[in-house]
Amino acid sequence: MELGYLTEGDLEETFRIQKKEGRKRKLGEVLIEHNFIEERKLIDVLSMQMGFPFVEPQFADIDPDIYHLVPYGWYDDHAMIPIRKEGDQTLIAFADPLDTVEFGAAQMFFGTKLLPAIALPGSIREAIKRMERNRTEGSNNHFEANHVIDTVNEIIGTAIVENVSDIHLEPMPDRLRVRFRHDGVLIHHKDFNKNLIPPLTSRIKIMCQADIAEKRRHQGGRIVFNEAGNEADLRASFYVTINREKIVLRILKQQSHLVKIEDLGMAPTVFERFREEALDRPSGVVMITGPTGSGKTTAVYSCINYLNDPMTSIITAEDPVEYVVEGIAQCSINPKLDLTYEETLRHIVRQDPDVVVIGEIRDRFSAEVAVQAALTGHKVVTTFHTEDSIGGLIRLMNMDIEAFLVSSTVVSVIAQRLLRKPCPLCEAPDNPNLTILRRWGYTPEDVKDTDFRKGRGCAKYRYTGYQGRIAVVEMLLLDEYMRNALINHSTSHQIRRISIEKSGLITLLEAGIIKASQGKTTIPRMETIF
Ligand SMILES: [Zn+2]
Repeated sequence: MELGYLTEGDLEETFRIQKKEGRKRKLGEVLIEHNFIEERKLIDVLSMQMGFPFVEPQFADIDPDIYHLVPYGWYDDHAMIPIRKEGDQTLIAFADPLDTVEFGAAQMFFGTKLLPAIALPGSIREAIKRMERNRTEGSNNHFEANHVIDTVNEIIGTAIVENVSDIHLEPMPDRLRVRFRHDGVLIHHKDFNKNLIPPLTSRIKIMCQADIAEKRRHQGGRIVFNEAGNEADLRASFYVTINREKIVLRILKQQSHLVKIEDLGMAPTVFERFREEALDRPSGVVMITGPTGSGKTTAVYSCINYLNDPMTSIITAEDPVEYVVEGIAQCSINPKLDLTYEETLRHIVRQDPDVVVIGEIRDRFSAEVAVQAALTGHKVVTTFHTEDSIGGLIRLMNMDIEAFLVSSTVVSVIAQRLLRKPCPLCEAPDNPNLTILRRWGYTPEDVKDTDFRKGRGCAKYRYTGYQGRIAVVEMLLLDEYMRNALINHSTSHQIRRISIEKSGLITLLEAGIIKASQGKTTIPRMETIF
């Protein structure tokens, strides 16, 4: 409690549960089981309180000579593992160093001079599993190769199961660090012995047909992964750093994971207008804007999926293709083969399409292709790297696209952000931070009768208190007022005012506050973007 890991209420609740159970269970066990504290934090505190060092046997170099002093199977019944000799003492990691029976058992094999340390039970079990695999298969090359393959499969398999978007394998001077990006946030997965870096890198290069011998140039490749029921396509990138190659594996989504357009996160009334007045119109440009990682690509694919039917010809120029959608002609830009973005866009309208998907407007040329395609009666879906919807229009004009062209071709601009949702398993009502709300122009009166929520953090989702994300969407439709404002070269401030007052624009901030007040995201998450 002194360290702020536990509230008084949680502790009282734990005592109550412990008493109700009747049997003598350790306070720590109850705390962990009911998600009042993270196991790792508890071990940290115990280590500090009792003066035992905290070790991570899972990643430690365990001396096999000492480990094998005990017969096969013995470790199954003991939550401990010897690590190494330190002088004439043996360092041993115990799940509970105060357990005198365990301590005595250890002395039988490792001598009386023990140096006890404390470790996570899971970490001890993992280390024992690894050592036992080593024992049964012998420490020859065959074992090494299998171990590397297993390790890579385990990392990718876990990432798929946990619905991770990217796997980062980062060589550090003393270890290999593996992190997962989950719901947009990087979280630590595991550390591995640094000896594993070269074979692991080679293994991944083999999987994606990259050049194993090449270590001084950046490389890329694609992996079709299918192991133990976990299937996914992955895009691999090898980036040469001062500490060897950093590897990032992006897990590509399957068509079955496409988000339905109605599930994108628009309010029902906003969605109806977007569908009727933007998507269902036969021509015009629909732009999806936002910074990197705001879910633009997902939104584009949702639009494509909605428009995809047997009577519509859809063609794309993407850099690169991220989801494969049946029934549409997708082109993945590949400058290595001279299949450049420009070249592809030059050819795209000659394919008699109804819908043209331009992966991203990145310069004047791609902006012109989008506008020209719309002028000649095509529907264009594209993304643009701008902060908000009005900003998208302004930037198009700054690319020397005439205001009248912008106003007569663009039908809708969407701006969006992805915000994390409170974890459904541990969410509880929360009082909104009025200071922040006031800064955003809201009074306490505005947030009466709302349902702000936040997650306390639980074992299931790594104590973040969050699980999954929702999109917060600002949808601008270009009506008469907006078109006039553009043609009259109004300032972005004026255009914004007109869009709110006349065209009923619900801004990103408003959309976010609505979502937060319904308990679908939290004020702290909104603070990260506003
Ligand atoms: Zn939770």
